[in-house]
This record gives sequence, structure tokens and C-alpha cells, in this order.
Amino acid sequence: MTRDAAIAAALETLTSGRFKADLARRVAMPTVSREAEHWPDLQRYLDDELAPIFARLGFEQRQFRRDPAPGGFLLASRIEDPALPTVLMYGHGDVVTGVPEMWSPGLDPFVLTERDGVWYGRGTADNKGQHSVNLAAIEAVLAVNGRLGFNLKFLMEMGEEYGSPGLADLVAENRDAFAADMLIASDGPRIGRAQPTIFLGARGGLNIHLEVVAREGYHHSGNWGGLLANPGVELAHAIAALIGPTGECLVPELTPGTIPDDVKAALARCTIETSPGDPALDPWWGAPGLTQAERVYGWSTLEVMEIEVGNIAKPLYAIPPWARARLQLRHPVGVDTDAVLPAVRRKLDAAGLHRVKIVPATDAAFPASRSDLQDEWVRFATDSLAQTLGQVPVILPNLGGSLPNTIFTDTLRLPTIWVPHSYPGCGQHGADEHLPVSIVHQGLAMMAGLFWDLGHRA
Ligand SMILES: [Zn+2]
Repeated sequence: MTRDAAIAAALETLTSGRFKADLARRVAMPTVSREAEHWPDLQRYLDDELAPIFARLGFEQRQFRRDPAPGGFLLASRIEDPALPTVLMYGHGDVVTGVPEMWSPGLDPFVLTERDGVWYGRGTADNKGQHSVNLAAIEAVLAVNGRLGFNLKFLMEMGEEYGSPGLADLVAENRDAFAADMLIASDGPRIGRAQPTIFLGARGGLNIHLEVVAREGYHHSGNWGGLLANPGVELAHAIAALIGPTGECLVPELTPGTIPDDVKAALARCTIETSPGDPALDPWWGAPGLTQAERVYGWSTLEVMEIEVGNIAKPLYAIPPWARARLQLRHPVGVDTDAVLPAVRRKLDAAGLHRVKIVPATDAAFPASRSDLQDEWVRFATDSLAQTLGQVPVILPNLGGSLPNTIFTDTLRLPTIWVPHSYPGCGQHGADEHLPVSIVHQGLAMMAGLFWDLGHRA
């Protein structure tokens, strides 16, 4: 029995049509976690879809509930020998809303449809297709080898698209149940459609809300201009004090200050790839002196998300009484998030903008995470994927977006190895979500090879 046989067994699920049938059945379950009428579907996904597979593969199963999570959590464990390394895996079975009216003619979010080598359907990319690849690869290795040769715990969440409520508490309260040597999971995109990728963390996200409130009511600009301060002008200067005219964040404390050498070296191999339908890039925008990959993955961006002053649809020719803006900072590890708002305050005060208030942000902040590029399990996974692919995968120190990854890196102290089976143009969270069959093919081979190698370490 060989590594090649395990990979062949995983790929056979694709050629036989079994993988597609399994995924079609999963996509047909409308597990929309933000719509209460679908909460019974969340439980059905665990009980009817996943539990039988894990039972067949010899996993012990435990379900957890945590308020206010809309669905349960399933932890399936196959402990072959406590002396062997333990892998924790993660996936989510819930999806965002279908919005069928936005999909192309002939496509339905909850009907898997194949066109031009891709499978359309809600969840094909995020995340049903991705965890289906991993489950099929586990099953293939067990079928060929009889055992994994390592311990495996698979956590399946049904509320990720609801903001993962309860997940952090669940893991913190059950550290022993989730204890492992590494996380291997699949979610989010590769860096490009034909670029197999490992990413090791995520940037953090933090919102900064600014407000200038001068007085009640609007006042005639001719009679009062020059006599009354204008909150719109003050807010514009506040934004200009924080962000330069070509998008550079002007508050040093909001950036990592420097990009570590190993992160820089990894990013030197990353090229930003756009897909048809993506906007054209603006290479003149962003932090100066950095590559585009460094700007998205290695540095911070401070963006204006919304500005509100007066009512442009109903002009009053008056000085507005207030103005407000919502800014968002995306940052890699290396930014002290407790120091962010005080630094913004100092910058505004230094510009004389004492009247611009920083009001508490009502939206959630996400911490940044990044596993060590030199971690032995990261190298192990990289070597394994390279052997399967015949090429070294792209190693991304972290995603540009955010993930609840600190639950694994900080709470459980695990190196986190994300092997995404999707790509940036997949349409997740929008219309025409899809998964290229070529990525499924590569994913099945990579994961079967990786699981085989984990069980056959020298
Ligand atoms: Zn999602």
C-alpha cells in the first residue's frame, strides 16, 4: 500500500462522480445560519450528513451547544495512539444567504450545477466544498491504509457566517478536548486559481469611528460661514491627518513598523493575481516602497468605509451641524491594538483637531494571527504538498482578510496550516459562488498525500 494508492483513491471519488453527488446533497441543504427558519437545517447537516461519515470512519463524536450560536458544534475524534501526533481540523457547514435573484440565469444557489469545469452552488467554495475535499481525502487514506497513523480531531461549526458566537468560549473551556499538535484546515482563497497555497494566519480588523458634533441644526452658509466652524471640513482634515493622498497610513503605531525578513522572503514569491470581473489594480496606491503583496499581507491599511455629512440628495446650502466617518484598520501581527486609538488621538491633537471625537466602534474587532514560518509542521506540510504537486506551494504568512484563527494560535497554542481549496474569484458571499473542479482535483491529491505523510513520518 503506497502514498500513490491513497492519492489515487481520493481522486477516484472525483472520476466516479461520488464526490460530486456528496457535495450536491450538501449544497442542497440550505444551512443559512443568519436566517432562523433554517436553523433546523444546521442540526440536520450535523446529524444526517456528517455524523454518519464520521461514524463510518471510526470517529467518536461529541456535540456542543453554546448560546447564542445558531447551530451546534461537532467534535469528531479518532485517537489511534496518544503517543502519536494529533491534528485538529476545522470546517463550517453553514452558509450565507442564497440571494437567488442575483445569480446568473439557470443557476440556483441550492442546486449544484456544473458549467465549463466549475461547480456552482452556495457553499461550494465556502465551506462545504472545502471540507468535503478533506473528508474524502481522510476516507481515502483510511481505505488504503486501514489507519491514519496519527490522531485526528475534526471540529465542525454551524455558525461561522453568523460571526462564530460561542466558538472562542467553547474552545477555551474545553482545551483538553481540542488539544492537538497543529491545526490543518481549509477555508478562504488561494492566492490565485492555479496557485496552490498555504496560509498561516490572518490580518486583524479594527474599526475607528470619528465624529464632529458642533451644534444643533443647519445654518445658512452665507450668513454664518466664517462665523461657525464646519464639522465637514474638520472631519476631512482629520482623515487627511491619518491617511495620505495615495492611501498611506500616516500613524506609525497603526503599522507593524517593519516586515520581518522571513515574511518578506515568503511574500517575494507571491504575486497578486486578478480574475475576470475584478477591478484593475492601482499600483500607485498604498504604502510607498512596498510590493503589492507586502501591502496586502505584510502591512496595515487604513481605509475610509463611510463618511456622512449633510444630505447630498437634498442640498440645504447650509453649514451642517455634525459629520462622522467609519474607518477600518486591517493590520498584521506586530501592531499593538491597545495602542491604536491613543495614537490616533495624539495624531488628531497634534493637528489641532481636538474637536474630532473617537467614538466607541459598535462593530467587532478581529485579532491578527500568524504562525511561525519556520515551524517544523509548516515545513512538513510544505514539503508534503510540494511532493504531491511537483512544485512548491505559495506560502502566505497570513491572509489579507480576517479569520477567528487566534482561537487556535493563542488559546490552543497551535501552528495553523490553512490549505485553501478555493480562489479569489469564487464569488463566495455573493452571486454565482463556484468551485473549479481543477481545484478539487488538486485539493484531493494534496490532502491525501499530506494525511499519508503525517501517518508515515520517518
Ligand atoms: Zn464565509
